[in-house]
Amino acid sequence: CGIVGYIGTREAAPLLLGGLHRLEYRGYDSAGIALLNGGLPFMKQKGSVAELQKAFDASPARMLGATIGIGHTRWATHGDPSDRNAHPHLNAQEDIAVIHNGIIENYSVLKQELQGEGYHFQSDTDSEVLVQLIDRIWKIDPSLSLEAVVRAALRHVEGAYGVCVISPRDPDKIVVARKGSPLVIGIGEGEYFIASDAAPIVEHTNRVVYLSDGEMAVITRSGYQVRTIENVAMEKDITELDFSL
Ligand code: GLU
Repeated sequence: CGIVGYIGTREAAPLLLGGLHRLEYRGYDSAGIALLNGGLPFMKQKGSVAELQKAFDASPARMLGATIGIGHTRWATHGDPSDRNAHPHLNAQEDIAVIHNGIIENYSVLKQELQGEGYHFQSDTDSEVLVQLIDRIWKIDPSLSLEAVVRAALRHVEGAYGVCVISPRDPDKIVVARKGSPLVIGIGEGEYFIASDAAPIVEHTNRVVYLSDGEMAVITRSGYQVRTIENVAMEKDITELDFSL
C-alpha cells in the first residue's frame, strides 16, 4: 500500500516512521521498517504506525545507528493482516529485506518451485516470493550486485509492483523498481527519500524524480541511477514541486 525509504546521514528510523505517518491517509492494516546498520534490524506488526512507533520507542537500541532504511504500510491482498504477513519480508538468513506494493500474479507457481527446492515461507503473502527469489539467485552467483539480483528476480515475476530492497551483503544502497505501482525519489542534500507518493517527501525537498513503469533505480548517498528492468540506462527529468499551488 505505502512505501517509504531513506538513505543519507541522518538517523533513518524516525524519518521512516514519520514518512509512514504521512501515508496513513491511504488506509492500511500493518506497518514495518527495516534498516541497515551493519546488520539488518527490522520491526513489523499488525496495527497502526503509532503502535509501531511505540514498539520502536520501547526498544530503539538495535534500531539506531542506521542511515539507510525502508518502511511499509500494508493493505493485505494475499494473507490476512498479521504480524508475520506484515512487510518487510526477509530471507531465512535475514540478510535481504523486501517491501512490496501490489500483487505478484504468478506467486503460487513461484512459491511451489521455491518450496520444491527447500525454501520455507514465513508468510502467506504473494510478496515473500520476491525475497526468496532474490536469495536463490544470489546463492547461484554471490558475486552479483544487489541491483543485478533484483533485476534477475523481477524477470520471473508477473503482476504489479513497487518494491524496495536492502541488504548488508551489498550495503550503502537501496534498490527500487516499479511496474504499475507508483514510486517517487526525493532529492535532498546528500540524502534521498523514496515514497509511493510525494506526501512523505515534501517536508524534506521539492525536487523529485517520478519512476515510470518498468524502471529500476539504485540509490546511494552520492546519487541515483535509473535503468529499465531490461538494464537500459534512462535520463530522468527532475520535477520541482510547487508548494504554492
Ligand atoms: N500483496 C501484498 C500483500 O498482501 C502487498 C499489499 C500492499 O500493496 O500493501 O502483502
